[in-house]
Amino acid sequence: MSTLISEDLIARNPATGAELGRIAATAPEDVAGIVEQARAAQPSWERQGWPGRRACLSRLRAIIAHDADAWAAAVRDEVGKPLGEAAGEVVTTLDSLRWTITHAGRVLAEKRLPRGWQRAMLVPPARLRWRPLGVVGLIGTWNYPLFLTVPSLADALAAGNAVVWKPSELAPWVGQRVQAAIDEAGFPPGLVAVVQGGAMVGQALTHSAIDKGHFTGGVANGRRILAALAGRGIPATAELSGYDAAIVLPDAPRDSTAKALAWAAFVNAGQTCIAVKRVFIVGEARPWAEALAAIAGSLRVGDPAGAVDLGPLITPEARDRFHGSIEAAVAAGAEVLAGGRPIEGPGSFYAPTVLLAAPDNPAPEAALAGCFGPVVLVRGVRDAESAIQAANASMFGLAASVWSRSRRAARDVADRLDTGMVAINDAVAPSSHAAAPFGGVKASGFGRTHGAAGLREFAASQVVHTRRAGGLRPQVFPYDSRLMVRAMGVYRRLFHPRGGGHPGR
Ligand code: NAD
Repeated sequence: MSTLISEDLIARNPATGAELGRIAATAPEDVAGIVEQARAAQPSWERQGWPGRRACLSRLRAIIAHDADAWAAAVRDEVGKPLGEAAGEVVTTLDSLRWTITHAGRVLAEKRLPRGWQRAMLVPPARLRWRPLGVVGLIGTWNYPLFLTVPSLADALAAGNAVVWKPSELAPWVGQRVQAAIDEAGFPPGLVAVVQGGAMVGQALTHSAIDKGHFTGGVANGRRILAALAGRGIPATAELSGYDAAIVLPDAPRDSTAKALAWAAFVNAGQTCIAVKRVFIVGEARPWAEALAAIAGSLRVGDPAGAVDLGPLITPEARDRFHGSIEAAVAAGAEVLAGGRPIEGPGSFYAPTVLLAAPDNPAPEAALAGCFGPVVLVRGVRDAESAIQAANASMFGLAASVWSRSRRAARDVADRLDTGMVAINDAVAPSSHAAAPFGGVKASGFGRTHGAAGLREFAASQVVHTRRAGGLRPQVFPYDSRLMVRAMGVYRRLFHPRGGGHPGR
């Protein structure tokens, strides 16, 4: 393998611009060789079986738990989130690891498939197995550099795969730390390898001989990667952008709901794929928008080294893009009740922003779609039906929330929202439920992370049917057509009688 280093990645604190460290970027031409090394390490990892794999994953969890404070500080410094949020990310990552360590053996265990009615056809019984796919190529994002990466790495490894993974070029420092923890945990050499760099390295990974792609990021890049993988018939999981709606029914208590919505909109400075971005108030919206604006105005924005509620946006370019979306929403008729402007400082700070749109004006929603920063757009709608239509009108379908004192009324609305996740009287926080599958529909992608569904994304089912050697076998030539037709007739009358009834299983 060539040792050519194309250039260093410089990790910077987005609040101050201070350099955190330099990380050697991987040369794109080296990626294919790294994937081949991972492939060579995979069979023995698979043969270790679950107890051996669990031991390595348990050590990884212990390493992260042991230095939890240092991990939180690293996330804060590289991504620019308040320390409490970073500490929350560390523990939710640990929760996910614990879930995998506790449950993967069961979820991926062999199962016997009962023969059911087919017994009468002398169909043999079967075992269902879950087999690894080979080498997983994981391309990650920066906003939750642990929580959106480590659980998927762990699930892919738990299922017996090798992994070559690329952290975002905006979070390479935490990425290097994760790889160091993996190395320390004693996984076989080469089985898990980090490749560092930007789009070129991501492209090299996408075009390498991986057996499964796992992408988290924006829609445009996600679709590019999916197209490249689809051209070679490689399956992929795509965790893409969201544009989450909150529907507030008339009986929702204003104070507590507004507080919860403000948190769900502005957590991680709004740079959360499942942040609340659109709020549909059934009824008069202005008092709600004013309540949110009052909270937004009270939030402390600044360097997370101090006591703040919001840190900076990740880069100056990200802040410029975000401000462009706000200006477009205002041009489309949105009224600014709070924020709406960048804040001076060495970091790319932005004032938490509350916009109000007139009930009959959905144009600001279109202008803001896909933006990534601290904004919430409020609009009044006539009734719950109109709120559902407005929420579902988006091309995105990641998460949504419904707010009401009546669980029944909220559930009726929640059940009709086109998203992968819905919460009632909550938002963002429920995604830390380690057993709950995380992922979206529509343009927000497909496939799931976390829980049993997340684990099985990294495995292929294989069914093994076993008949006794020399046993009775009705499926043989030559046909005795009369006997076959009579046998099928008896089977059909027994299990599929006219009129649709059936005699049991
Ligand atoms: P991005 O699409 O710019 O980059 C994501 C990753 O893809 C990075 O590692 C990047 O280097 C790599 N990449 C870029 N171009 C590539 C290419 N052509 N081939 C291969 N790899 C390539 O996204 P981002 O800025 O890192 O993340 C922000 C976006 O991610 C937001 O839209 C957000 O909503 C979304 N997101 C989604 C989830 C989710 O779970 N659904 C979670 C977090 C963020």
